[in-house]
Amino acid sequence: MTINFATGFSAIRNQETAVRRLTGLLRSGNIPHAFLFTGIDGIGKKKTALTFAGALNCQRVDEQGVAEDDAVVPCGKCRPCKKIASGHHPDIIVVAPEKSRIKIAAIRDLGRMLAVKPYEARQRVVIIDQAQAMNPKAGNALLKLLEEPPRKTFLILTAGNTYSLLPTVVSRCQQVKFKPIPEHSVVTHLEKKGVPHEEAAILGKLANGSFGKADSLADTDWVNRRQWILQVVEPQDAGKKDSGQAVLSLAFSEILARDREAILDTLEFMKSWFRDLAVVRADSDRVVNKDQLDRIRQTARRYRTPQLLSKIDVLEAAQKNIEANANIRLTLDVMMMNL
Ligand SMILES: [Zn+2]
Repeated sequence: MTINFATGFSAIRNQETAVRRLTGLLRSGNIPHAFLFTGIDGIGKKKTALTFAGALNCQRVDEQGVAEDDAVVPCGKCRPCKKIASGHHPDIIVVAPEKSRIKIAAIRDLGRMLAVKPYEARQRVVIIDQAQAMNPKAGNALLKLLEEPPRKTFLILTAGNTYSLLPTVVSRCQQVKFKPIPEHSVVTHLEKKGVPHEEAAILGKLANGSFGKADSLADTDWVNRRQWILQVVEPQDAGKKDSGQAVLSLAFSEILARDREAILDTLEFMKSWFRDLAVVRADSDRVVNKDQLDRIRQTARRYRTPQLLSKIDVLEAAQKNIEANANIRLTLDVMMMNL
């Protein structure tokens, strides 16, 4: 991850409480050795951790400190800032999941690195990204580092929440909470990237408060993808489940299973579709896929509300299984059958 430090902490949007807390600590100079940044994916936890690492090493901060209203730290111009922003600082260490796991070997390697002095940093910073990907063994290995923190070293863990981590790990970190991004901010963010307003409004809802998710949706050809999904979910002559439809369903789960990244987004979209069908009669303002309102109105006539709610349950069950690393193909096949 390379980031732009030119505007310091003020580049971190919609996380005023977290930023105020961190800049307050920088001002006081009384900084705990371990932090846990919690909140959903794609809302700026890692970017904030890197910015904090920058501020701990920025030469301007060293000379002038952090003023009360100063959001423009780190400076982004000095040598340490530039190295950290470009991801080339030897003492800013990022540990991230490989194949969605952080193994004990990775934590042991980290321990060996931390046993020697920092190369050049005033303050070494270790970011353990997606710390919930540690298994209990890895967590216990990390605990040793937290119990006897190496000198001049700060650890920042990021995670979705606290209950996916060992309580002993959580209790040794100071927690900083990050909030989901308000929908209107996500829409504005997408529009700034050049996404047309109508599409931005839809993706803004599907993104569920995450800039990261909004970006990944905007980067896929979402409008075409949605057409493709709808073909499978809502065959034009629904009602008669012929074998052609069954073949299409299986092909759908096969294609989807190959594209792990897109699966959760697709399931989220399918949920939004069935939710739209369920709410359209009562309140068409709450429909997410507004550009498809006519089609939603028409399709909704084919279903009773309990049918739609049970489809949403099926999708939620599949989402949970996939997040828990269940067999993807099997999960999708079962899901399509139950739909
Ligand atoms: Zn600097």
